[in-house]
Amino acid sequence: MSIEALYGFFAVLIGLSIGSFLNVVALRGLSGESIVFPPSKCPKCGKKLNWYTNIPVISYIFLLGKCQFCKQPISVQYPIVESANAILYLIMFLNFGVSLKTLILWAVTSIFILICITDFKEQVIIDLHTYILIGLGLLYNILKLGSISILDSILGILAGYLIFEILARIGTITVKTRAFGEGDTLIAMGLGALLGWKMLILTIFISMLIQAIFTIPVLFIKYFKNKNYLSAFALILIVLCIISTKFANPNFDYYIIYLAILCTVLLFCLLIILKNIKSQESFCYLPFGPALVTGALFIIFFAKKILVFFS
Ligand SMILES: [Zn+2]
Repeated sequence: MSIEALYGFFAVLIGLSIGSFLNVVALRGLSGESIVFPPSKCPKCGKKLNWYTNIPVISYIFLLGKCQFCKQPISVQYPIVESANAILYLIMFLNFGVSLKTLILWAVTSIFILICITDFKEQVIIDLHTYILIGLGLLYNILKLGSISILDSILGILAGYLIFEILARIGTITVKTRAFGEGDTLIAMGLGALLGWKMLILTIFISMLIQAIFTIPVLFIKYFKNKNYLSAFALILIVLCIISTKFANPNFDYYIIYLAILCTVLLFCLLIILKNIKSQESFCYLPFGPALVTGALFIIFFAKKILVFFS
């Protein structure tokens, strides 16, 4: 086995173990229990786990996803988090080698995963996780591991705060509810610290795309179930408008007219949807935290390619 493969193997092992720890940290963070005590136990029957039934992913497969004592199903969250953390650790290692950069990005990745768990599970973002992210972002740029200056990093924190607070306030005016939680502001500040203000703006843009790709089908199904057909139709029209821009030729003589019609239709559709929001359709469908950190991962790996794509 080459030394590279051996290191890769270790990256996966470390990723699995820390992933297993992240499950515990996230759940006990939500329930307010201590991280160190008590030892790992089955959440259903409370029996302590043996070392050999506590091996990340492998134990889950051998136990067929059931507790060895009470035979109750074990949440699939455990192996998913463990393998996601391991895969990302391996990818970081393959991209950045044995380096301080890899080490700090491993820590960042694990914070990203913590944010996803708590946000998906209870729509909660734990402040401490985002403070650590801000700290790691600053450290990353103080050590000059990225391509931005420490000033850019600080401006990134500021930009994260301003952009999300302004968006949240606009949301409050239009739909009478905060469009983003305070947790999202804190995540954006952390991502700003890590990536700088320019890349933060691109990250937010990509995150919104990711969010839209997942939200639109959920929204459509919801409208249809609530017999809110007009909104469902408006939603399809919005998607068609967006797709049509891909095929429109900017050199076309009537491009301005096309854009004007497009904007009118978009605005009209949005008004229809806003007017027809039924009380049982809460405005925030999916947590935004996971989309934000996924956007940031895209930037970390593909910043250059993404810039080429958008230029
Ligand atoms: Zn059990």
